[in-house]
Amino acid sequence: MKPALIFYLFLLLFISHTNYAQTTFDDPEIKKMVAEVKSENMEATVRKLVSFGTRHTLSDTKSNTRGIGAAQRWVKSEFDKYALASGGRLTSVIDFFTIKAGGRRIATDSQLGNVMATLKGTDLTDDRVLIISGHLDSRASDVMDSKSDAPGANDDASGVAAMMELARIMSQREFPFTLIFVAVVGEEQGLYGAKHLADVAKEGKWNVIAMINNDMIGNSLSSGTLLRDNTKVRVFSETIPFLETEAESKMRKSTNRDNDSPSRQLARYIKTVTNQYVEQLDINLVYRNDRFLRGGDHTPFSQNGFTAIRFCEMNENYDHQHQNVRKENNIQYGDLAEFMDFEYMKKVTCSNLATFSNLAWSPKAPTNVGIEVKDLTNFSTLVWTAPEGKSVYGYNILIRETSSQHWEKTIFVKDTKAEIPYSKDNFFFTVQAVDALGHSSLPIFPLPIR
Ligand SMILES: [Zn+2]
Repeated sequence: MKPALIFYLFLLLFISHTNYAQTTFDDPEIKKMVAEVKSENMEATVRKLVSFGTRHTLSDTKSNTRGIGAAQRWVKSEFDKYALASGGRLTSVIDFFTIKAGGRRIATDSQLGNVMATLKGTDLTDDRVLIISGHLDSRASDVMDSKSDAPGANDDASGVAAMMELARIMSQREFPFTLIFVAVVGEEQGLYGAKHLADVAKEGKWNVIAMINNDMIGNSLSSGTLLRDNTKVRVFSETIPFLETEAESKMRKSTNRDNDSPSRQLARYIKTVTNQYVEQLDINLVYRNDRFLRGGDHTPFSQNGFTAIRFCEMNENYDHQHQNVRKENNIQYGDLAEFMDFEYMKKVTCSNLATFSNLAWSPKAPTNVGIEVKDLTNFSTLVWTAPEGKSVYGYNILIRETSSQHWEKTIFVKDTKAEIPYSKDNFFFTVQAVDALGHSSLPIFPLPIR
């Protein structure tokens, strides 16, 4: 064979390989950040938050040692320490707002305040926003009891500690767009703090591409059934979007898009990135917005049309949530730090960090993603428009069988159109943009093109 021909064949092989290769880039910087997560830090944060006695939303705001006010000021002071290390790019505020008496679980007019840190992006033309939250408030057995001890170690000092650990580590890096780290209040009284922020975001037309709520991520032993598992964490995501127009509902039915809401795509994204960067932790996708009888801070965001999910431990312990601290029949009740599993909590925090960073460095998602449905063919043709902004290295087409919960195959392409040998009748597809370091956008579900 002539050398030129060999070279040509070799080139052909190379081209076809790059067009259909499975892409698993690991970003060394994300690996490094994940290694910076320290369970000692988070344990110290949880114990500090517990030390305020109660963080009930309506508890004392004046004392510097007890009550919600002291806790708010302490979280802000920690944010300010990270801000110094960030060279002033991180800024923090206690965002006060008033809830009128007579509201659900609010007896008198009350001033509430979310503690929020904002890491400004480096690209002023990129208006995307990512939000991560935990709730600062805690409760005793009686939700209106603002006086008794309510340590709230797991519910939800765990979520606040994870959020703060992300703020600490991420504020030492630069990201193109805005990241918000927030400890909301009023969760136990009726999700007031999250609703306030979700309304501010909606009215301000913020381009929130994802909101991640961490609520109870530090317990690995179930009460009653005594299951112990520190290798799984649940991610709750809405099945049918809260805000769905009639046209969207019609389209969902015609494309059988019942398991592919934007929030479900975010949940799967978390599962993929967690598999990539975190050892011994599997994301358990729960196909519901939240649990029975209880709500969470992601819900007001979903209700305002944003993509939002909740992280929550696999096994819940009802002896240690929403309980007065007491001993009965030799059983210790109360949400105390001694019942927490900080190594488990660390892994869940690593999952948050890897996901949040991968998204924060991602190119914008492709737009006008469509799938051609005009011909009877066993190939599928997907087309899309390249996103503006940060340079795109290529695109992943994610593929799964219609009955599968998670993506099973990835095809990487450089072009904005691809014909793939998988029948559109038998598989679901999405398309995400990827940069050269493997940071991927949220996947977009294609609309049919006739
Ligand atoms: Zn909670």
